[in-house]
Amino acid sequence: MVNADQLLARRLLAALASGGVEPFFQPIVSLDDGHVLGFEVLARWHDPEQGFIGPDQFIPIADRFGLLDRLLDQLMRAAFSAAADWPHNIFLGFNVSPTQPRNPELATRIAKAAIDSSFPLSRVHIEVTENGFIDDLTQPRCTLDRLINLGCMIAMDDFGTGYSSLTWLSTLPFSKLKIDASFVMAMEDHRQSRKIVDAVVGLGHSLGLAVVAEGVETAGQADLLRGMGCKLAQGYLFGRPTPAHQVPNALRQFASARQNGGLSAPMSLEVRADRLDEDYAPGTAVALMDPAGTVVASSKAFDRTMDANGAEVAGRHIWDLIGVTPETMAQLRATDLLDEPFPAFDGSAADGSTVQVHIRPVKDESSELVGYSVEYRDISNPAGLAS
Ligand code: C2E
Ligand code: CA
Ligand code: CA
Repeated sequence: MVNADQLLARRLLAALASGGVEPFFQPIVSLDDGHVLGFEVLARWHDPEQGFIGPDQFIPIADRFGLLDRLLDQLMRAAFSAAADWPHNIFLGFNVSPTQPRNPELATRIAKAAIDSSFPLSRVHIEVTENGFIDDLTQPRCTLDRLINLGCMIAMDDFGTGYSSLTWLSTLPFSKLKIDASFVMAMEDHRQSRKIVDAVVGLGHSLGLAVVAEGVETAGQADLLRGMGCKLAQGYLFGRPTPAHQVPNALRQFASARQNGGLSAPMSLEVRADRLDEDYAPGTAVALMDPAGTVVASSKAFDRTMDANGAEVAGRHIWDLIGVTPETMAQLRATDLLDEPFPAFDGSAADGSTVQVHIRPVKDESSELVGYSVEYRDISNPAGLAS
């Protein structure tokens, strides 16, 4: 006999096949000036018989019947196609249930959906809830590392609601932390919640993460968050989830300095790589890497600093070259999202001397991240410091 859940799963399967599930988009904004940085993509299912069915009802069913990957695939393809004409700096955040990163194919599927739609993976953010990461973290960690390697950013969703938030935070490569709406919504009435939000904002920033407050509904909450130094927010105060066709209109309503450059021709990393010698002082040890960390071009001085024989480093991954770990890459993405400089750190040159490593985002005319410059400065020779 077919039970109610099975019936729902069958209907969901049919809806997925016929495009009955569509992505809605909710803005994530800067609390400083209100401009839109990106959208969270939320699944909406309209069933011809039952009408609107909310994700809280069908996501657990999709999970149980193994339909989540298909759902994600559909949402991504629809969202990428809708976003093709939106400003180039806008990111899209997709929800991934904790069971999904256990599948070794997940990263490949995400990459394929983005590549098929020519949507840059650096604009794909993946939100994972901590609820459910109970057992072995080996495969999830591997999947998330691969996604970072491809250029995606990983966010921890619903922070504070799971069993071991702090354990996951320290073991998995997150760049962004989303404070659960329940704390944010209770903030104005409950001192405890206000203290918790304040502490989480501080914790996130001290770990180098971008912090987003969810469920912001009132101007009072937004003011409190600003006072705590929280930079990013999402909630009905700024916009409800809307279908794709309403997004351009919604974007127009947000006065955004960043949108102004949205139509100019982007300058690719390749073009910048060609101009490496013109853009930097002679003898500067500098390399350009793509958002995922693969070196696209390097100066001779950089090659020499890496390898006494001066072998070319282009094509190699920055993780293999210097002490840049997936965590550093994740932090890099967070500081970039917040428009903050990434702190310099010490590395060692091929000859054993200590060098200071400066990593900076490289953006095109429409503020889209095209990669990073990595510059080595010899700290034993202050005269050689390039500005
Ligand atoms: P979430 O990831 O925490 O998403 C935020 C939820 O809060 C959304 O509910 C959004 O509509 C709602 N929300 C946003 N701002 C406010 C606000 O100011 N006040 C209130 N009261 N609510 C607000 P939604 O769309 O019903 O989604 C519920 C959950 O379902 C999501 O929570 C997410 O965990 C899950 N979900 C949605 N789409 C997907 C998906 O495509 N895949 C997976 N795996 N999960 C999804
Ligand atoms: Ca989410
Ligand atoms: Ca959430």
